[in-house]
Amino acid sequence: QNATTETGMPNMLRTDSGVRFIAVTSGKGGVGKSTVTVNLATALARMGKKVGILDADIYGFSIPAMMEVKQKPTMIDKTAIPVISNGVKIMSMGFFTENNNPVMWRGPMLNKWIQNFLTNTHWGELDYLLLDLPPGTGDVAIDVAAMIPQSREIIVTTPHNVASYVASRAGAMAKHTKHEVLGIVENMSYYEEQDGSRNYLFGKGGGDMLAHQLESEVIARIPFAKREENNHSNVYDEDSLTGEMFASLAQDLVHRE
Ligand code: ADP
Ligand code: MG
Repeated sequence: QNATTETGMPNMLRTDSGVRFIAVTSGKGGVGKSTVTVNLATALARMGKKVGILDADIYGFSIPAMMEVKQKPTMIDKTAIPVISNGVKIMSMGFFTENNNPVMWRGPMLNKWIQNFLTNTHWGELDYLLLDLPPGTGDVAIDVAAMIPQSREIIVTTPHNVASYVASRAGAMAKHTKHEVLGIVENMSYYEEQDGSRNYLFGKGGGDMLAHQLESEVIARIPFAKREENNHSNVYDEDSLTGEMFASLAQDLVHRE
């Protein structure tokens, strides 16, 4: 019996096993995809969900650093046991490069790694698998769309109109490949001042503009986090303003199921 299904999906991650795939995408880099991925995953895990992150940003992996993971996965035969941080199972290219050396492969190699991370990883039981995609509509995004047809997307933008304009291309690709867009997360939406007022330091309206273009909706507006909201990692404390925003996004997504 072949280890994968017709769609190329591993038996342990089949659609009918109930795992929900959520790809986090954007047009531009640096808008907060990885931040949204780690914090949404952590919020779901805090709710008692079984959650994994596949760091599909093969060249620009950042999940291990963001979650302060120092150890590497244990290998059993050719299967990797994901590393767990904040209750989330993690798999990343960062575990397989030495001394943070750059990864310089072309399309077909990328495809092979994504496939490996899906099929040769002992994910075990999962409720959610979040995929942190590289920016844009390149090889990896195309591969993921084809390999996991049932994956749904969250599109991240900042309130700045250039970010949202570029993000609309990622949204157009989701439509083209018939992937459901769960909604738009407007990150760095505002900064909360001491007196509770909002300072829109990155502009305004990017999320709404994108939602309008894609006939979708803004499902979260994440503030620019203050230093004290985390302990040096990029996972925000449960009781911080930013942490609470991610908790309500997680609840919203769970209630939709
Ligand atoms: P991407 O994955 O889209 O390239 P990142 O998640 O790596 O973006 O975010 C880029 C930078 O911005 C990181 O240094 C991250 O810590 C910071 N950042 C992202 N979102 C926020 C936020 N809401 N508040 C404060 N800093 C943020
Ligand atoms: Mg990233």
